Order: sequence, then structure tokens, then C-alpha cells
Amino acid sequence: MLPDIDRIKTDAELPVRADVVIIGGGIIGVSAAYFLSRRGIDVTLCEKGFVAHEQSGRNWGWVRAMGRDLAEIPLCLESQRLWASMNESCAAETGFRRCGILYLCDSEKEMASQKAWLDAARPFQITSRIVGGRELADILPGTQRPFVGALLTPSDARAEPQKAVPAIAEAARRNGAKIAENCAVRGLDVAGGNIAGVITEKGRIACGTVILAGGAWSRLFLGNEGIDLPQLKMLGSVFATPPMPGGPEVTVGGSTFSFRKRLDGGYTVSRRNGSISHITPDSFRLFFDFLPSLVSGWDELKLRFAGRFREEWRMPRRWKLDAPSPFEEIRVLDPAPDEAQIEEARSTIAAGFPFFRDMKVENAWGGLIDVTPDAVPVISPVERLPGLVVATGFSGHGFGIGPGAGKLASELATGAPPCVDPTPFRLERFKRSARPLAQAVPQRP
Ligand SMILES: Cc1cc2nc3c(=O)[nH]c(=O)nc-3n(C[C@H](O)[C@H](O)[C@H](O)COP(=O)(O)OP(=O)(O)OC[C@H]3O[C@@H](n4cnc5c(N)ncnc54)[C@H](O)[C@@H]3O)c2cc1C
Repeated sequence: MLPDIDRIKTDAELPVRADVVIIGGGIIGVSAAYFLSRRGIDVTLCEKGFVAHEQSGRNWGWVRAMGRDLAEIPLCLESQRLWASMNESCAAETGFRRCGILYLCDSEKEMASQKAWLDAARPFQITSRIVGGRELADILPGTQRPFVGALLTPSDARAEPQKAVPAIAEAARRNGAKIAENCAVRGLDVAGGNIAGVITEKGRIACGTVILAGGAWSRLFLGNEGIDLPQLKMLGSVFATPPMPGGPEVTVGGSTFSFRKRLDGGYTVSRRNGSISHITPDSFRLFFDFLPSLVSGWDELKLRFAGRFREEWRMPRRWKLDAPSPFEEIRVLDPAPDEAQIEEARSTIAAGFPFFRDMKVENAWGGLIDVTPDAVPVISPVERLPGLVVATGFSGHGFGIGPGAGKLASELATGAPPCVDPTPFRLERFKRSARPLAQAVPQRP
């Protein structure tokens, strides 16, 4: 069942024009709207369903720099800086707390890989350090499993997805941003090679700049515009416990489980390293793009042959803008959680940590995570279509870097100096998206 996501007030009337239109009301879209509106820029955000009802309202709530690709660390740190003042700047409780994040290691091999990351990340002066023995026992008293050690980052944090994302959206509205729900954008209105507007199901909005923050839908949207973004979806399954007073404050990730305390005193729990990849037509189309990550992450990957293939095969990949688009057919992507993974996470944690022995599953849900071949997001202008900025492909960690990523997208959209070097996030790093438009997406046979 969907977690309890705060609802926001929205704008019933669409404006005729805006300086910037944002497609998608997840954390990236609402953060971009917030930072644009704070600068007095006239921005409208269109969400096909409801704000934060896809990935951004379903995630674990980790705000992490630890373990990140080095190219992303400056953006992670900028984001944590923004998170730290978010309650004040949004005048709302986002749940942001510097609780620390701990990666527990079962083997020397896992420890070696954490140490390798720690050495490589030293120039960024993150607070990460190796802990073991007595210190680890003090952090997690009574643990039954003989962990070899752990990597701890005290400055890493958590926030409440179901509260934070609507709170940022509300703050953007107070600054003057317009936010329309149940308003799918069918496509772009392009004139003379430049963006002239967007066509929504409720009419056209004239604009010179668009930020596409469409999460798992971005590949489909761009495909209809002749732009080929390599992006797949993975299923994550999560459950929430009722409040459990007195448990660990630190957020914990083991090799096959994770838990983090929520603001209400309950825990958000999942099977870590167990995302399920459903085989879909895109799995074949993008096979060679994802082959390297398939090989390196083979032991963690769970492939499923039944499930989403039929649904995605039937979904049109081309449509006209004067008729309903796929975005109107599926307002909220709401996959069922994998029950076996829910039970595996529950029983592993109950067996390993006495505090969780009687833990109950209050609610469980699924979420489709959008991933790129190198697991680094795209936050980038599209060279061939001036006025279009894409911010997507957050590969399972867009909640934590959401505020920074939305800010960076807002800066790229307006030519303002970027808060971090955007080079690692360029769309054109994927060779396929640099092909001439006509060849970019093969038509379905
Ligand atoms: C189970 C799970 C656990 C995760 N755990 C973490 C974590 O602990 N920490 C972390 O940092 N990240 C985590 N993530 C990843 C994180 O949630 C995502 O990376 C992030 O939320 C992506 O935000 P987004 O705004 O890009 O996409 P989304 O939140 O998916 O939002 C995209 C929005 O765009 C809308 N949209 C799409 N197309 C259109 C259109 N044509 N017109 C109008 N609207 C459109 C969709 O309806 C959707 O609401 C997790 C994800 C999942 C699923």
C-alpha cells in the first residue's frame, strides 16, 4: 500500500506562458521549482499524477555521501548543505537529521572495498571512518552477527520523503511557482529547432525553457522527441514498522538488509542490494549499454522474466500530441512489492538484532528506480534542442542529492553559474544520445 504522502494545494488554472516549465513533481522537479521561484523566475511545474507519489515518496530516506561515485560527491555535499537549512527555508518539518550511516561488513572482502572507497574519497574530507570491535558494539548493542567491521559516516543523514518533497513544493508555491497535478505533459512544442512551449493534456504553455525531471518516464518522453536516453527500471521493495521506541538512531546497511529510524519512531526497512530487474523490451534494446554494469553487479542482480514485459511492450513509443499519451494512462506508477524480499529483510534483521526480534510489518510498497548505465544521473542541457535541460537517471540515490540536483538543473536552465561542475552529468557522455536525431530511436518493428 502507498505510504502516507502529504498532499499539497495545487493550481487549477494553467498559465498561458511561463519562463520555465518543469515536467515531473518528484524531488528533482520540486527542488528546481523551489530554487527558480526563489530567484523570482516565473515557473510552472506539471505533474501527471500527484507530487511525490512515485520514487520520491517511496524511498528509504537516506541522505548519503558515503560510498558515492567520486564524480557525485561535490553534489552530495552541496545537497547536504541545502538539506541542513531546509526546515527553516521551507518553514516545515522535512525530517532531516544528521543520524550517521553505517555500512556493516560480513567479510574481509567487503571491508577492503569500503576501505578502498575511503582512501579514494579522502580529498573530499567526508567524516567517514572505519569502526570495529568495542566501538561497533556500542553503536549497535547486543548484535548477534559477528561483523568484521563497518564504515561509518557521522555526517550522513536521513529525511522523510513523504513530508520533505511536498514541503519543498509548498515552499515553491509560496514563492510564486505554479504547480499543476493531474496534468501530463504530452510533448514539446518545438519551433525552428528551439523550445517554444509544452503541450499538456490541459492545453499549451508557451515557454522557452523546459526541465524534464520525469524519473522513470524520462526515456519514454525523450524517445518521442527523437532523443535516446539509456535508462532502465529496477523494482525496490520497502516496508515500514509501527513506532518502536528506543531503537538505534544510526541508519544501517548490511549486505542484504537496511533499516533507518523515522521521525515517528518506526523504521523503514528493506532488502539491500536486492533490486529486481524485470526483463522488458528495453532490456534488449539497451543490452550493450548496460552490459558492463550487468557483469560487475551480477551477484547482486535479480532478473525476473515475468511481470512488466507485456505492459511495456504494449505501451506506445510514439504518439501525437493532440491525443492522450501514455502518461495519462498511468497516473502513478505503483508496482507491487516483492513479498519474498520483504520477508527476507524482516527475518534477517529480527535474527541479527535483538531489538528488532518482534518487529512487525505495518505497510509495504514497491517503487521503480530509474537507472543509467554508469549509475550517475543526467543533469544536462540537450545540445541538439536549446532550451531543454534533462535531470533524471538518479539510479537509486536521487532523494539525498535531490535539492542540489534540482538547484543545478535550475542553474543550467537559466545560465546562472552552476553550484558544482556539471561535466560528470552530461547527457552526451552516452554515445548513443549523440547520434543524429533521425537515427536516435529505431521504430518498433
Ligand atoms: C524503493 C526505493 C528506495 C530508494 N532509496 C533511496 C534513498 O534512501 N536515498 C536516495 O537518495 N534515493 C533513494 N531512492 C531513489 C530516489 O527515490 C530517486 O532517485 C528520486 O526520488 C528520483 O526523483 P525524481 O524526481 O527524478 O523522480 P520521481 O520521484 O520518480 O518523480 C518523477 C515524476 O515525474 C512525473 N512525470 C513523468 N513523466 C511526466 C509527464 N510526461 N508529465 C507530467 N509528469 C510526469 C511522474 O509522475 C513522477 O511523479 C530510492 C528509490 C526507491 C524506489
